[in-house]
Amino acid sequence: MAKKTARPAAADDPAAPARLVIEDDVAWIHLDDPAKSVNTLSSRYMQWFDARLDEIADQPLRGLVLISDKPGYFIVGADVDELKGFSEPAEVVEVIRRGHRFTGRLAALPYPVVAAIDGMCLGGGLELALCCDARVATEARHTQLGVPEVLLGIFPGLGGTQRLPRLLAVADALDLILTGRQVDARKAKRIGLVDVTCHPLALRQAALAAVAWGKPGQSGYRGPRNGSGHGFAKAAADVIARTPGARALVFNSARSTVLKKTGGHYPAPLKAIEVVRDGLNLPLADALELEARAFAEVVVSDVAKNLMTIFFTKNAVEGRARKLAAGARQLDRVGVLGAGFMGAGIAQGLAHKGYDVVLKDRDHDALARGLEQCSGLFQDLVKRRRYRPVEHKEAMSRILPTIDYHSFGKTSFVVEAVFEDVEVKRQVVREMEEAGPEDLIFASNTSTIPIARLAEASRRPENVIGMHFFSPVHKMPLLEIIKHPTTSEEALATTVEVGRRMGKTIIVVNDGPGFFTSRVLGPFVNEALWILAQGARIDEIDRVVKAWGWPVGPLALLDEVGLDVARHAGRVMQDYAGARAEPSPIFERMIADGRLGRKSKRGFYKYRTEPKRVDRSVYELIEWERARIDPQEIVERTWMQMLNEVARSIEDGVVSDPKDVDVGVIFGFGFPPFRGGILREADRLGLDHVVGRLETYAARYGDRLAPAELLTDMARKGKTFHRD
Ligand code: NAD
Repeated sequence: MAKKTARPAAADDPAAPARLVIEDDVAWIHLDDPAKSVNTLSSRYMQWFDARLDEIADQPLRGLVLISDKPGYFIVGADVDELKGFSEPAEVVEVIRRGHRFTGRLAALPYPVVAAIDGMCLGGGLELALCCDARVATEARHTQLGVPEVLLGIFPGLGGTQRLPRLLAVADALDLILTGRQVDARKAKRIGLVDVTCHPLALRQAALAAVAWGKPGQSGYRGPRNGSGHGFAKAAADVIARTPGARALVFNSARSTVLKKTGGHYPAPLKAIEVVRDGLNLPLADALELEARAFAEVVVSDVAKNLMTIFFTKNAVEGRARKLAAGARQLDRVGVLGAGFMGAGIAQGLAHKGYDVVLKDRDHDALARGLEQCSGLFQDLVKRRRYRPVEHKEAMSRILPTIDYHSFGKTSFVVEAVFEDVEVKRQVVREMEEAGPEDLIFASNTSTIPIARLAEASRRPENVIGMHFFSPVHKMPLLEIIKHPTTSEEALATTVEVGRRMGKTIIVVNDGPGFFTSRVLGPFVNEALWILAQGARIDEIDRVVKAWGWPVGPLALLDEVGLDVARHAGRVMQDYAGARAEPSPIFERMIADGRLGRKSKRGFYKYRTEPKRVDRSVYELIEWERARIDPQEIVERTWMQMLNEVARSIEDGVVSDPKDVDVGVIFGFGFPPFRGGILREADRLGLDHVVGRLETYAARYGDRLAPAELLTDMARKGKTFHRD
């Protein structure tokens, strides 16, 4: 039987973030912070650890193992609250130095230290594991390792930028640091990040086996790490990395990839490249000091603050969705009506998360295309090793294709994704209610039709709701749920729960033409067309708007959405808002000429060859004459028109919480995240400034650019949208 050693009283504090148990001369630190649902690496955690190291440093132990008692989580990273609170670089450097002293002590213990990883091991958690002599990780799907700091506008600051490139091939280390990518245990083993992978039930034995290897560098060491601590792949890669030319190539290419991806708006990855490059030439202690100083610079930057704010905003929005989902109906099966581009994407997302799906279309051809799309998406998961081939089969077998309503008798929740035509959809509401159970909830994926118009066709309008996914469904994180005045709580809770289970970030908005997202996207692209008509070039408009941080320019975006689809949405808004929402006449000319965008291989760009090229014949079609327009004006007119519509949708009560707005524009269509959201950007500039710009443009180009009343009112009172 294992011999357990009694613990000193202080360590038995029930509020302690972890527990120390000594068993057969091995110290086990069980990570399990009672104050949190996940373990995060806070100062409190490190103080606790430090005190335990004082206790055990001189004990005759065989080893120390770090293991988590929180199912699914090792340590998910540093405490972001703490990071966000930093404002003085000097103070940050001190905090980081304390962290380095602690990790240095851990690494210097005279006996082997092992990280036994089951669950998320991210950021500071992985950096802590990197200070251990060995890492064993479970092959469970929830075990993911990575350093996602870059997504918060920072980089690893607890030695990660120095220990990763010393342990892995430099290119692999850079890849993890610069992309924030998470890898599973098998991939981690391949690149040398962990030493052993095992079944979750064998984790303790695997950790003890790693303790038995001994301490690297000491006599009798029997583990995979020789004196230099490298595997063959790492050694080979390092020979290359030590050659000055090759090394310069690795770092230069990383830099140009980052610049291409970020347009230079994100300082952290560029700084991280420098820190890795320069640190590799220094002894570890000096390299860690270099990391600390650089980290202190980026963590207090505006970009980092904005990205951390989004992190919290998204968490808050998701927390609210969790509460809204209380009272949801328990479902195993969901119906999807329409197996077109969106319907197939939704069906795949549902089956992926374990729902049985009844997928209906009008005919077998359409169904076959939809199933092919689903199968292709599952196949991609197999290629990326996220699925075993058998899981592909299992997931497909959860989708029941049909061309009639016979199989819907017990399907009490359906997502409708048929053509965007109010009469077709109303007909489908009636048919479905005929075929489905009494308590059927009907969720429509319409992008423009007011939900109340569909509810009018229903016998149970309280069970009709909007469930607006974004395209492509498997990639886009946002789901906009639309309630109309009589939508029931159960319908809302159930729709939110289905969306949450699909992994979506959910905003709930009130009904109205174009709801929130379609409504505010319209003026952004429409203004770009007015600017084009005035004489700016197609590529110029897209280039300057992208340079401001958007992922894609408005004209390229129109080509992706489809000009017919966008014109339809524009008309819906025009019916509602009148002249200020008048779609540009360019829509008509393009559509009459068969230019619907990428789907017709002709739009503002030509799509017959890659990369796409501007189609210059558009200029003749629209009788264009070149005129120079200030790039700043192009940028401002597009995003401020979006802001104007955001303000009007707040006036109309479609949305009310600024958090929903910022999450909606960032996760729905990529408003530049480093700006923190459209309302944060407006607050930063000051609403009086924004109103002034809109008034100038309105005087030049007409009333559609006149500032919304809410903006002028708030500007006059010196208000901001966000209060923090
Ligand atoms: P699509 O044309 O690709 O698919 C529509 C499918 O519905 C077709 O397969 C059609 O055969 C089928 N259908 C038509 N009538 C039907 C009926 N009575 N019963 C069953 N199936 C029927 O269109 P899509 O792009 O997938 O759009 C579907 C819906 O999703 C629309 O309301 C659209 O506005 C909305 N939407 C589209 C996007 C997008 O980017 N494509 C984004 C968000 C929302």
